Amino acid sequence: MKKKPASPTVPPAAIDATLTQDALIPWAAEFQAKLLAWFRAEGRDYPWRQTENPYAILVSEVMLQQTQIATVLGRGYYDRWMTAFPDVATLAAASEPAILRVWEGLGYYSRARNLQKTAQAVLALPGGQFPESVEGLLALHGIGPYTAGAVASFAWNLPAPLVDGNVARVLTRLMACDLPIDQPPMPRRLWEWAGILLNRQDARLHNSALMELGQRICTPRSPACLICPVNTCCASAGPAAASRPKKSPARATVLVIEHTLLAIRDNKILLHQETGRRRQGLWKLPLRTAAETAALPLLHTAQYAITHHRVTLHIHAFAPDNANTNSNAAPAPQREDETWHSLADLPLLPMPGPYRKSLNHLLRQ
Ligand code: SF4
Repeated sequence: MKKKPASPTVPPAAIDATLTQDALIPWAAEFQAKLLAWFRAEGRDYPWRQTENPYAILVSEVMLQQTQIATVLGRGYYDRWMTAFPDVATLAAASEPAILRVWEGLGYYSRARNLQKTAQAVLALPGGQFPESVEGLLALHGIGPYTAGAVASFAWNLPAPLVDGNVARVLTRLMACDLPIDQPPMPRRLWEWAGILLNRQDARLHNSALMELGQRICTPRSPACLICPVNTCCASAGPAAASRPKKSPARATVLVIEHTLLAIRDNKILLHQETGRRRQGLWKLPLRTAAETAALPLLHTAQYAITHHRVTLHIHAFAPDNANTNSNAAPAPQREDETWHSLADLPLLPMPGPYRKSLNHLLRQ
């Protein structure tokens, strides 16, 4: 899974209404016209662009926050979610395991839980409808400035700017800005620029076009300035473009080794349920230390990445009935937070993607 650059999270600053767009950015009108003309001719059609349903738009935006469109659409996540939870009421009433199971493989599971909390917050409002304003959306659980701008402009065409990683990159290049994008004053400045450049009559198309320009033309490593529809407005057009935006140094990669047990008895498997913030509610194989698994046969090794962690997952064979008869190197027997589950139920239990893949591989054998 490819993580998109973090989007600035500072709320839109108030734009001085006494200043015209021309006074602030003289080429704003030209930019808007060229951007819209390009998008009308070349813009892609996605399911969430064929609807004005704020719930469907919210689902797509939350899924796309950390995941590429090809995954969300091509691997069926969006369609499966909308089939399982077609509206706010269905999602609000769903069980957490059911939600996590449909989300499984997308990672960043707090997004799924937050979506449900947002649905519950909407239902609790008088009338049980989404509030039709940026301020009202921001008051809902789990909705930040980007998502509020996206839902407000895509669902109701409200003149709300938005800034995600793609938009931030485009804006930084347009302005030839070399300040670190993730440090003050940049987050607030990006929202100001997005507000000044916004086509207030056609915010829905404008915001879609700006995001798509960043996805397809003004890409991180190979911006296609020669064919870019707004290159006459851009102060970075040409070789300088790829050097922007500047960022603070990346966090150092942390190597992690997980030693786990594959313990199966009477067609049941021993599992541990995560309580940590990132994967809360997901089921994993029981974790042990390297010393506890040193004497156990190694069945399988897999590698995966999560944020700045590079994880090596080792799965060791463990015969539960022999737990107390082994040497000092034997892993501790079943622990309080570990429970037995029928192998037949395994497909129904939400599980981190790398664990699911490794388990499926081992069980096929
Ligand atoms: S001209 Fe190049 S740098 Fe400027 S917006 Fe277009 S693709 Fe991005």
